Amino acid sequence: SPDSDMFRSTNNIKVYVRIRPLSKDEYARGETSCVHIARDEHSVKVVEQGYGYNTTTRSFQFDGCVGPAAEQHEVMQTVEMKKLLDKVLEGYSSTVMACGQTGSGKTFTMSGREEGMHDKKGYEDCWGDDGLIARSAIYLFEAIKARSFNKDQTKPYTLRASYFEIYCEQVNDLLRLDAAPRDVKWSSRDGFYVENLLLVDCDTLEDVFSVLNEGGKNRKVGSHELNKDSSRSHCIMTLHVDSLCDITGDGHPIVRYGRMLFVDLAGSERLKKSKSSGEMLKETGSINRSLFTLGKVISALSEGKKGDVVPYRESMLTKLLMESLGGNSLALMIACVSSAASAVDETLSTLHYATCAK
Ligand code: ADP
Ligand code: MG
Repeated sequence: SPDSDMFRSTNNIKVYVRIRPLSKDEYARGETSCVHIARDEHSVKVVEQGYGYNTTTRSFQFDGCVGPAAEQHEVMQTVEMKKLLDKVLEGYSSTVMACGQTGSGKTFTMSGREEGMHDKKGYEDCWGDDGLIARSAIYLFEAIKARSFNKDQTKPYTLRASYFEIYCEQVNDLLRLDAAPRDVKWSSRDGFYVENLLLVDCDTLEDVFSVLNEGGKNRKVGSHELNKDSSRSHCIMTLHVDSLCDITGDGHPIVRYGRMLFVDLAGSERLKKSKSSGEMLKETGSINRSLFTLGKVISALSEGKKGDVVPYRESMLTKLLMESLGGNSLALMIACVSSAASAVDETLSTLHYATCAK
Protein backbone atom coordinates (compact mmCIF):
# COMPACT_ATOMS: atom_id res chain seq x y z
CA SER A 1 0.00 0.00 0.00
CA PRO A 2 1.11 3.59 -0.61
CA ASP A 3 3.74 4.93 1.71
CA SER A 4 2.54 8.32 2.79
CA ASP A 5 -0.19 9.76 4.93
CA MET A 6 -0.53 12.91 2.97
CA PHE A 7 -4.06 12.25 1.81
CA ARG A 8 -5.43 11.31 5.19
CA SER A 9 -7.24 14.62 5.48
CA THR A 10 -9.14 14.00 2.23
CA ASN A 11 -11.06 11.14 3.75
CA ASN A 12 -14.43 12.70 3.22
CA ILE A 13 -16.61 11.08 0.66
CA LYS A 14 -18.04 13.49 -1.82
CA VAL A 15 -21.68 13.11 -2.75
CA TYR A 16 -23.26 14.16 -6.03
CA VAL A 17 -26.72 13.86 -7.47
CA ARG A 18 -27.69 13.04 -11.03
CA ILE A 19 -31.23 13.63 -12.22
CA ARG A 20 -32.49 11.39 -14.99
CA PRO A 21 -34.67 13.10 -17.62
CA LEU A 22 -38.24 11.90 -18.17
CA SER A 23 -38.39 9.11 -20.72
CA LYS A 24 -40.58 9.27 -23.84
CA ASP A 25 -43.08 6.95 -22.17
CA GLU A 26 -43.19 9.09 -19.08
CA TYR A 27 -43.86 12.17 -21.20
CA ALA A 28 -46.57 10.28 -23.05
CA ARG A 29 -48.22 9.43 -19.73
CA GLY A 30 -48.24 13.10 -18.81
CA GLU A 31 -45.59 12.81 -16.10
CA THR A 32 -44.23 16.04 -14.72
CA SER A 33 -40.85 16.79 -13.29
CA CYS A 34 -40.53 17.35 -9.55
CA VAL A 35 -36.76 17.70 -9.06
CA HIS A 36 -34.98 20.95 -9.85
CA ILE A 37 -31.43 22.12 -9.44
CA ALA A 38 -31.11 25.34 -7.47
CA ARG A 39 -29.30 28.32 -8.93
CA ASP A 40 -26.20 27.69 -6.78
CA GLU A 41 -25.82 24.30 -8.58
CA HIS A 42 -25.10 22.61 -5.26
CA SER A 43 -28.58 21.79 -4.11
CA VAL A 44 -31.74 20.28 -5.51
CA LYS A 45 -35.32 21.11 -4.67
CA VAL A 46 -38.02 18.48 -4.68
CA VAL A 47 -41.61 19.61 -4.95
CA GLU A 48 -43.99 17.20 -3.33
CA GLN A 49 -47.66 17.44 -4.21
CA GLY A 50 -49.90 17.38 -1.15
CA TYR A 51 -53.68 17.48 -0.89
CA GLY A 52 -55.38 19.96 -3.17
CA TYR A 53 -53.02 22.67 -4.27
CA ASN A 54 -50.65 22.26 -1.32
CA THR A 55 -47.05 21.56 -2.15
CA THR A 56 -44.03 20.97 0.06
CA THR A 57 -40.59 21.87 -1.21
CA ARG A 58 -37.57 20.13 0.23
CA SER A 59 -33.97 21.05 -0.41
CA PHE A 60 -30.86 18.83 -0.34
CA GLN A 61 -27.23 19.94 -0.47
CA PHE A 62 -24.58 18.15 -2.54
CA ASP A 63 -21.00 18.62 -3.66
CA GLY A 64 -22.41 19.00 -7.15
CA CYS A 65 -25.49 18.30 -9.28
CA VAL A 66 -25.85 16.83 -12.75
CA GLY A 67 -29.08 17.89 -14.41
CA PRO A 68 -31.36 15.95 -16.76
CA ALA A 69 -29.97 17.66 -19.86
CA ALA A 70 -26.34 16.90 -19.00
CA GLU A 71 -24.41 14.58 -21.27
CA GLN A 72 -22.21 11.74 -20.12
CA HIS A 73 -18.96 13.66 -20.49
CA GLU A 74 -20.28 16.35 -18.17
CA VAL A 75 -20.61 13.80 -15.38
CA MET A 76 -16.86 13.11 -15.62
CA GLN A 77 -16.25 16.83 -15.14
CA THR A 78 -18.77 17.53 -12.40
CA VAL A 79 -17.64 14.67 -10.18
CA GLU A 80 -13.96 15.42 -10.96
CA MET A 81 -13.31 11.84 -11.96
CA LYS A 82 -9.78 12.69 -13.14
CA LYS A 83 -8.73 13.47 -9.57
CA LEU A 84 -9.64 9.92 -8.58
CA LEU A 85 -7.91 8.45 -11.62
CA ASP A 86 -4.71 10.41 -11.02
CA LYS A 87 -4.60 8.95 -7.51
CA VAL A 88 -5.03 5.47 -8.98
CA LEU A 89 -2.03 6.06 -11.24
CA GLU A 90 -0.06 6.93 -8.11
CA GLY A 91 -1.00 3.66 -6.46
CA TYR A 92 -4.02 4.62 -4.39
CA SER A 93 -7.54 3.20 -4.37
CA SER A 94 -10.47 5.26 -5.59
CA THR A 95 -14.14 4.38 -5.56
CA VAL A 96 -17.17 5.71 -7.38
CA MET A 97 -20.56 4.38 -6.30
CA ALA A 98 -24.00 4.89 -7.82
CA CYS A 99 -27.07 4.51 -5.64
CA GLY A 100 -30.77 4.99 -6.28
CA GLN A 101 -33.95 3.14 -7.15
CA THR A 102 -34.15 0.80 -10.13
CA GLY A 103 -34.51 2.80 -13.33
CA SER A 104 -32.89 5.94 -11.94
CA GLY A 105 -29.79 5.79 -14.16
CA LYS A 106 -27.12 4.00 -12.11
CA THR A 107 -26.05 1.62 -14.86
CA PHE A 108 -26.35 4.33 -17.49
CA THR A 109 -24.01 6.49 -15.42
CA MET A 110 -21.45 3.72 -14.86
CA SER A 111 -21.60 1.61 -17.99
CA GLY A 112 -23.48 3.66 -20.58
CA ARG A 113 -26.66 2.98 -22.47
CA GLU A 114 -26.00 -0.30 -24.17
CA GLU A 115 -24.58 -2.60 -21.58
CA GLY A 116 -22.77 -5.44 -23.26
CA MET A 117 -22.61 -3.52 -26.54
CA HIS A 118 -19.20 -1.91 -26.51
CA ASP A 119 -17.41 -2.41 -29.79
CA LYS A 120 -15.44 0.74 -30.37
CA LYS A 121 -12.20 0.72 -32.28
CA GLY A 122 -10.28 3.76 -31.10
CA TYR A 123 -9.89 6.26 -28.32
CA GLU A 124 -11.12 9.08 -30.51
CA ASP A 125 -14.63 7.89 -31.24
CA CYS A 126 -15.83 7.78 -27.68
CA TRP A 127 -19.57 7.53 -28.04
CA GLY A 128 -21.74 10.10 -26.41
CA ASP A 129 -23.43 7.42 -24.33
CA ASP A 130 -20.32 5.91 -22.81
CA GLY A 131 -20.40 5.89 -19.05
CA LEU A 132 -17.78 6.55 -16.40
CA ILE A 133 -16.08 3.17 -16.81
CA ALA A 134 -15.26 3.56 -20.51
CA ARG A 135 -14.28 7.20 -20.10
CA SER A 136 -12.05 6.37 -17.14
CA ALA A 137 -10.37 3.56 -19.07
CA ILE A 138 -9.69 5.97 -21.95
CA TYR A 139 -8.19 8.48 -19.54
CA LEU A 140 -6.02 5.84 -17.86
CA PHE A 141 -4.69 4.47 -21.15
CA GLU A 142 -3.84 7.96 -22.35
CA ALA A 143 -2.11 8.82 -19.08
CA ILE A 144 -0.18 5.56 -19.18
CA LYS A 145 0.90 6.18 -22.76
CA ALA A 146 2.07 9.67 -21.89
CA ARG A 147 4.09 8.42 -18.93
CA SER A 148 5.56 5.35 -20.57
CA PHE A 149 8.72 6.69 -22.14
CA ASN A 150 11.64 4.88 -20.61
CA LYS A 151 14.87 3.69 -22.10
CA ASP A 152 15.21 0.23 -20.64
CA GLN A 153 12.00 -1.16 -22.18
CA THR A 154 10.40 -2.09 -18.87
CA LYS A 155 6.67 -1.73 -18.87
CA PRO A 156 5.98 0.72 -16.05
CA TYR A 157 2.22 0.19 -15.94
CA THR A 158 -0.08 -2.77 -16.31
CA LEU A 159 -3.85 -2.57 -16.33
CA ARG A 160 -6.11 -5.45 -15.39
CA ALA A 161 -9.83 -5.66 -14.88
CA SER A 162 -12.18 -7.71 -12.73
CA TYR A 163 -15.96 -7.72 -12.47
CA PHE A 164 -17.97 -9.37 -9.72
CA GLU A 165 -21.37 -9.11 -8.12
CA ILE A 166 -22.58 -9.46 -4.56
CA TYR A 167 -25.91 -11.24 -4.56
CA CYS A 168 -27.50 -12.25 -1.24
CA GLU A 169 -24.12 -11.79 0.51
CA GLN A 170 -22.45 -14.14 -1.99
CA VAL A 171 -19.75 -13.15 -4.43
CA ASN A 172 -20.01 -14.32 -8.05
CA ASP A 173 -17.30 -13.70 -10.60
CA LEU A 174 -19.12 -12.08 -13.51
CA LEU A 175 -16.31 -13.10 -15.84
CA ARG A 176 -16.61 -16.80 -14.95
CA LEU A 177 -20.25 -17.41 -14.24
CA ASP A 178 -19.89 -21.19 -14.29
CA ALA A 179 -17.56 -21.06 -11.30
CA ALA A 180 -18.87 -21.56 -7.76
CA PRO A 181 -19.41 -18.47 -5.61
CA ARG A 182 -16.04 -17.08 -4.59
CA ASP A 183 -14.70 -17.11 -1.06
CA VAL A 184 -13.85 -13.87 0.65
CA LYS A 185 -10.64 -13.93 2.65
CA TRP A 186 -8.72 -11.46 4.73
CA SER A 187 -5.03 -10.66 4.65
CA SER A 188 -3.08 -7.98 6.42
CA ARG A 189 -1.80 -6.59 3.13
CA ASP A 190 -5.04 -6.48 1.16
CA GLY A 191 -7.73 -6.52 3.84
CA PHE A 192 -10.82 -8.38 2.64
CA TYR A 193 -10.46 -9.70 -0.89
CA VAL A 194 -12.20 -12.11 -3.24
CA GLU A 195 -10.25 -15.32 -3.67
CA ASN A 196 -9.55 -16.63 -7.19
CA LEU A 197 -11.17 -13.70 -8.90
CA LEU A 198 -10.36 -13.57 -12.59
CA LEU A 199 -8.15 -10.59 -13.43
CA VAL A 200 -8.06 -9.90 -17.16
CA ASP A 201 -4.97 -8.26 -18.63
CA CYS A 202 -6.03 -5.19 -20.56
CA ASP A 203 -3.49 -3.87 -23.06
CA THR A 204 -6.04 -1.91 -25.03
CA LEU A 205 -9.38 -0.23 -24.62
CA GLU A 206 -11.01 -3.09 -26.54
CA ASP A 207 -9.86 -5.46 -23.79
CA VAL A 208 -11.69 -3.34 -21.23
CA PHE A 209 -14.80 -3.35 -23.43
CA SER A 210 -14.67 -7.15 -23.64
CA VAL A 211 -14.69 -7.31 -19.86
CA LEU A 212 -17.61 -4.86 -19.72
CA ASN A 213 -19.55 -6.85 -22.31
CA GLU A 214 -18.97 -10.19 -20.65
CA GLY A 215 -19.74 -8.91 -17.15
CA GLY A 216 -22.76 -6.98 -18.37
CA LYS A 217 -24.22 -10.07 -20.01
CA ASN A 218 -23.71 -12.13 -16.90
CA ARG A 219 -25.27 -9.79 -14.40
CA LYS A 220 -27.92 -11.59 -12.48
CA VAL A 221 -31.31 -10.36 -13.50
CA GLY A 222 -34.11 -10.88 -11.03
CA SER A 223 -37.62 -10.70 -12.34
CA HIS A 224 -39.03 -7.99 -10.22
CA GLU A 225 -42.40 -6.44 -10.37
CA LEU A 226 -41.05 -2.91 -10.45
CA ASN A 227 -38.75 -3.50 -13.39
CA LYS A 228 -38.04 -6.85 -15.00
CA ASP A 229 -34.50 -5.88 -15.86
CA SER A 230 -33.64 -4.57 -12.45
CA SER A 231 -30.34 -5.67 -11.11
CA ARG A 232 -30.83 -7.15 -7.68
CA SER A 233 -27.15 -7.35 -6.97
CA HIS A 234 -24.30 -4.95 -6.28
CA CYS A 235 -21.84 -5.02 -9.16
CA ILE A 236 -18.24 -4.00 -8.76
CA MET A 237 -16.03 -3.47 -11.78
CA THR A 238 -12.41 -2.81 -10.87
CA LEU A 239 -9.56 -1.44 -12.94
CA HIS A 240 -6.29 -2.52 -11.33
CA VAL A 241 -3.35 -0.30 -12.25
CA ASP A 242 0.02 -1.68 -11.17
CA SER A 243 2.82 0.80 -11.54
CA LEU A 244 6.47 -0.04 -11.39
CA CYS A 245 7.76 2.99 -9.58
CA ASP A 246 11.34 2.05 -8.84
CA ILE A 247 13.92 -0.71 -8.80
CA THR A 248 15.85 -1.33 -5.62
CA GLY A 249 19.66 -1.40 -5.56
CA ASP A 250 19.65 -5.20 -5.78
CA GLY A 251 17.24 -5.25 -8.71
CA HIS A 252 13.88 -5.82 -7.06
CA PRO A 253 10.95 -3.92 -8.54
CA ILE A 254 8.87 -1.69 -6.30
CA VAL A 255 5.30 -1.87 -7.50
CA ARG A 256 2.34 0.22 -6.45
CA TYR A 257 -1.11 -1.26 -6.73
CA GLY A 258 -3.69 1.33 -7.70
CA ARG A 259 -7.33 0.37 -7.99
CA MET A 260 -10.35 2.12 -9.42
CA LEU A 261 -13.64 0.63 -8.21
CA PHE A 262 -16.93 1.24 -10.00
CA VAL A 263 -19.81 0.21 -7.78
CA ASP A 264 -23.26 -0.11 -9.34
CA LEU A 265 -25.39 -0.65 -6.25
CA ALA A 266 -28.59 -2.68 -6.24
CA GLY A 267 -31.86 -0.78 -6.53
CA SER A 268 -32.79 0.85 -3.24
CA GLU A 269 -36.58 0.72 -3.71
CA ARG A 270 -38.50 -0.35 -0.68
CA LEU A 271 -40.11 -3.69 -0.03
CA LYS A 272 -43.74 -2.61 -0.11
CA LYS A 273 -43.64 -1.57 -3.76
CA SER A 274 -42.11 -4.75 -5.04
CA LYS A 275 -44.29 -7.16 -3.01
CA SER A 276 -41.35 -9.47 -2.59
CA SER A 277 -41.74 -12.98 -1.34
CA GLY A 278 -39.50 -15.96 -0.76
CA GLU A 279 -36.22 -15.58 -2.59
CA MET A 280 -37.08 -11.97 -3.36
CA LEU A 281 -37.50 -11.28 0.32
CA LYS A 282 -34.04 -12.64 1.02
CA GLU A 283 -32.64 -10.49 -1.78
CA THR A 284 -34.33 -7.37 -0.56
CA GLY A 285 -33.24 -8.06 3.01
CA SER A 286 -29.59 -8.34 2.09
CA ILE A 287 -29.79 -5.33 -0.23
CA ASN A 288 -31.25 -3.21 2.54
CA ARG A 289 -28.66 -4.41 5.02
CA SER A 290 -25.72 -3.60 2.74
CA LEU A 291 -27.07 -0.18 1.79
CA PHE A 292 -27.81 0.60 5.44
CA THR A 293 -24.33 -0.51 6.51
CA LEU A 294 -22.72 1.41 3.65
CA GLY A 295 -24.49 4.54 4.86
CA LYS A 296 -23.24 3.94 8.41
CA VAL A 297 -19.68 3.36 7.18
CA ILE A 298 -19.66 6.54 5.11
CA SER A 299 -20.96 8.69 7.93
CA ALA A 300 -18.52 7.14 10.40
CA LEU A 301 -15.68 7.96 8.00
CA SER A 302 -16.87 11.50 7.47
CA GLU A 303 -16.94 11.98 11.24
CA GLY A 304 -13.24 11.10 11.15
CA LYS A 305 -13.63 7.67 12.75
CA LYS A 306 -11.07 4.99 12.02
CA GLY A 307 -10.38 1.32 12.57
CA ASP A 308 -12.79 -0.93 14.42
CA VAL A 309 -15.42 1.73 15.14
CA VAL A 310 -16.27 1.79 11.43
CA PRO A 311 -18.78 -1.05 10.92
CA TYR A 312 -17.24 -2.48 7.73
CA ARG A 313 -17.75 -6.06 8.85
CA GLU A 314 -21.52 -5.87 9.01
CA SER A 315 -22.10 -6.58 5.30
CA MET A 316 -20.25 -8.21 2.43
CA LEU A 317 -20.40 -5.01 0.40
CA THR A 318 -18.70 -2.90 3.06
CA LYS A 319 -16.13 -5.61 3.81
CA LEU A 320 -15.05 -5.58 0.19
CA LEU A 321 -15.02 -1.79 0.04
CA MET A 322 -13.05 -1.48 3.27
CA GLU A 323 -9.64 -0.96 1.68
CA SER A 324 -11.06 1.48 -0.84
CA LEU A 325 -13.10 3.70 1.47
CA GLY A 326 -10.91 4.18 4.52
CA GLY A 327 -7.31 5.25 4.82
CA ASN A 328 -5.76 7.02 1.89
CA SER A 329 -8.43 6.48 -0.69
CA LEU A 330 -10.69 8.88 -2.55
CA ALA A 331 -14.36 8.04 -2.95
CA LEU A 332 -17.53 9.52 -4.25
CA MET A 333 -21.18 8.60 -4.35
CA ILE A 334 -23.56 9.56 -7.13
CA ALA A 335 -27.20 9.52 -6.05
CA CYS A 336 -29.29 8.79 -9.13
CA VAL A 337 -32.88 9.95 -9.14
CA SER A 338 -35.72 10.12 -11.62
CA SER A 339 -37.28 13.53 -12.02
CA ALA A 340 -40.77 12.05 -12.42
CA ALA A 341 -43.38 13.26 -9.93
CA SER A 342 -44.69 9.71 -9.53
CA ALA A 343 -41.29 8.61 -8.22
CA VAL A 344 -41.13 11.35 -5.60
CA ASP A 345 -41.13 8.99 -2.59
CA GLU A 346 -38.17 6.98 -3.83
CA THR A 347 -36.42 10.16 -4.94
CA LEU A 348 -36.78 11.67 -1.46
CA SER A 349 -35.54 8.48 0.13
CA THR A 350 -32.47 8.36 -2.17
CA LEU A 351 -31.66 12.03 -1.56
CA HIS A 352 -32.09 11.58 2.16
CA TYR A 353 -29.84 8.50 2.14
CA ALA A 354 -27.13 10.19 0.10
CA THR A 355 -27.07 13.40 2.12
CA CYS A 356 -27.11 11.55 5.44
CA ALA A 357 -24.16 9.51 4.30
CA LYS A 358 -22.02 12.62 4.28
P1 ADP B 1 -30.71 1.66 -13.12
O1 ADP B 1 -29.39 1.05 -13.45
O2 ADP B 1 -30.60 2.66 -11.99
O3 ADP B 1 -31.78 0.67 -12.87
P2 ADP B 1 -30.65 2.50 -15.87
O4 ADP B 1 -29.28 3.07 -15.91
O5 ADP B 1 -30.83 1.16 -16.45
O6 ADP B 1 -31.21 2.52 -14.37
O7 ADP B 1 -31.63 3.55 -16.54
C1 ADP B 1 -32.98 3.27 -16.85
C2 ADP B 1 -33.30 3.76 -18.27
O8 ADP B 1 -33.17 5.18 -18.37
C3 ADP B 1 -32.36 3.18 -19.31
O9 ADP B 1 -33.09 2.93 -20.48
C4 ADP B 1 -31.36 4.30 -19.53
O10 ADP B 1 -30.80 4.24 -20.83
C5 ADP B 1 -32.19 5.54 -19.33
N1 ADP B 1 -31.42 6.65 -18.74
C6 ADP B 1 -30.93 6.68 -17.50
N2 ADP B 1 -30.31 7.85 -17.24
C7 ADP B 1 -30.39 8.57 -18.38
C8 ADP B 1 -29.93 9.87 -18.78
N3 ADP B 1 -29.24 10.65 -17.93
N4 ADP B 1 -30.22 10.27 -20.03
C9 ADP B 1 -30.91 9.51 -20.87
N5 ADP B 1 -31.36 8.28 -20.58
C10 ADP B 1 -31.12 7.80 -19.34
MG1 MG C 1 -28.95 -1.00 -13.41
